[in-house]
Amino acid sequence: MRPLAAAVAGRHPVAPHRVDPPAGVARVPVSLPAMTNIGNADPAPPLLMTPGPTRVPERVLRAGMRMLHHRTPEFSAVLDETLQRLRLLYGTGSADILPIHGTGRAGTEAAVVNLFDPGDTVVACCNGKFSEMWAGFAELYGLRVVRVATDWEASVDPGEVAAALAAHPNARAVTVVYSETSTGALNPVPEIARMARARGALTLVDTVSALGGTPFRFDAWGVDVAVTASQKCLMSGPGLAFVALSSEARAAAEVGGTPRSYLDFRSILRSVGRPRPETPGTAPVMLVLQVREALRMIDEEGVDAVFERHRAMAARVRGWAEANGLGLSGRGILERSPTVTSVLLPPGVAAEAVRAGVRRRGIQIAAATGAHQASAVRIGHLGDIRMADVDRTLRALDDVLSAPGDDREAKGGGAP
Ligand code: PLP
Repeated sequence: MRPLAAAVAGRHPVAPHRVDPPAGVARVPVSLPAMTNIGNADPAPPLLMTPGPTRVPERVLRAGMRMLHHRTPEFSAVLDETLQRLRLLYGTGSADILPIHGTGRAGTEAAVVNLFDPGDTVVACCNGKFSEMWAGFAELYGLRVVRVATDWEASVDPGEVAAALAAHPNARAVTVVYSETSTGALNPVPEIARMARARGALTLVDTVSALGGTPFRFDAWGVDVAVTASQKCLMSGPGLAFVALSSEARAAAEVGGTPRSYLDFRSILRSVGRPRPETPGTAPVMLVLQVREALRMIDEEGVDAVFERHRAMAARVRGWAEANGLGLSGRGILERSPTVTSVLLPPGVAAEAVRAGVRRRGIQIAAATGAHQASAVRIGHLGDIRMADVDRTLRALDDVLSAPGDDREAKGGGAP
């Protein structure tokens, strides 16, 4: 029998693939660049010093450059290892860990639709953009939201949460963002969880910019739901979230919740709970491969060393700010996140111009949020970011802030 290609070619002679330029136009030799920077057409992508997404190490990128079918023992083994390794970072021996196919906000939205019925009351700590976003999801799904700690300049005061729980004894849960990426606050989750448990309420924590950058103790602190995402301390591409569930949260999802399909914890639990774990539909296989590799790298570096690296990088940024007479946004923040720092710029210096100047030096930093949008910048120091990257960023900032003219002044003047 003739090979198929030869048989097809015999029936339909195929001309060699060649496109001639129109008459009068010279043929330009085209050579493709060698793949030294895998998958990246830009020979010099900026250093991402944003609080997510952040640099994905080449080893992680390479690990994801493989396609597996999601209904195979090979993929089940990858998923299983990923969930087991995440369990260690979450600090839990008993929680269920669910992959959610979407970015971080899919995880926070999933928690709302699975655990609560319309009309349920939740106490929402709202001291930043992401905590306010979570409260907004809850409202959208018909929950009664009691907002507390609404000052974006401050940490959550556990006393305020206690008072709200006392005033609303029917509250089913408290929501809080551990590392509030928009302000740089690291909120007192252990105290909040203790109070919620004493009142019979669940504690839901957004750990999107915290897990893998700072210690987290799901079991010891009495947390019920903890959401994270692939593109921050987990050093992977964006598009995959994870939710850890206590047995109490799982029970709530079994009996309640709004109508849901794609984000239904019950079907995800059934699939990941099989002897060979799976996901209900097609899994983002390449992202799961990336996260598994990133978790292996964290293990190789040593999780305590990883946390210490984050702490030291945050301290370096804060020390630089202090040495330069610059403040940090959030005068009432009691504990600062080791993964992101929001630095106030000198009066009259426009944040947008500073970010553009730093970008011209090959580094991307983030805009500040809320009242500080025009007058502060946020520096992410998380995931694969190293001290040398922090120092390079601070040198660029020194350069921009000391440069007269274009680099520091906004068109039309800076913020006061
Ligand atoms: N929560 C926190 C604390 C975040 O930092 C972010 C994103 O920056 C989100 C939620 C939303 O996650 P995503 O953008 O992955 O949907």
